[in-house]
Amino acid sequence: MTIHDASGPRLAELAASLDVQFEKLDLAGRLALASTLGRAVFTTSLGIEDQVITAAIGLDRLDIEVATLETGRLFPETLALIDETEDRFGVEIRRFMPEKADVDAYAAQYGLNGFYESVEARHACCHVRKLKPLARALDGAVVWVTGLRRSQSGNRASTPFAEYDAERGLLKVNPLADWSLEQINAYVEQQAVPTNPLHKRGYPSIGCEPCTRAIKPGEPERAGRWWWENDEKRECGLHVPEAAAASANSTSL
Ligand code: SF4
Repeated sequence: MTIHDASGPRLAELAASLDVQFEKLDLAGRLALASTLGRAVFTTSLGIEDQVITAAIGLDRLDIEVATLETGRLFPETLALIDETEDRFGVEIRRFMPEKADVDAYAAQYGLNGFYESVEARHACCHVRKLKPLARALDGAVVWVTGLRRSQSGNRASTPFAEYDAERGLLKVNPLADWSLEQINAYVEQQAVPTNPLHKRGYPSIGCEPCTRAIKPGEPERAGRWWWENDEKRECGLHVPEAAAASANSTSL
């Protein structure tokens, strides 16, 4: 039986076992193990931790696909970094864009920048520009590699190394879960990893241009994302179940 055919409970068991194994491995070891499990896709936002993972994949020539969600609202600096990163590490970063019809329908209902008006409108925009392209990026994958770290925010404080993503029916692997920002910066320096120039201008976490601002000294790393919302609501649905993201419209998620 391949992982493709495995049932949910079997994948959950495997994730629990991998979680223990990953703890003892370094980043290269974690990624190498993830690449042996089946078709693996790493989705990068081009943020600094994601650049570390792309570097590790490229330097070790690992069999892990790299994809990004080109939402149509990214900073020009982020778009330039996609090309630069491909050249530096010899990896192809596949771009997944929203469907024009979905974007047009969103704009007709909420307005192009309607995401400032309500959490519902913001989740609807992320659904069109991120979640639907993400589904295409992960179609047929058995492993989803992410750059989530526990110290990024309260929402991410209990991020495991490996978990079963029941909604998408795959193994989600977070090889940087226990890394600090200091470790990330040290790796970037050692390996001369290109990074987004916005990081040096006060943007530790970078998403779409209209939804990201620089943070002040002492603020949490993700405080500049959807800054007009309450902290506990600030996820785009990529890393929380969609049902939970949707319920954020009326609850405090
Ligand atoms: S981050 Fe902002 S612009 Fe980007 S998809 Fe979400 S709501 Fe839309």
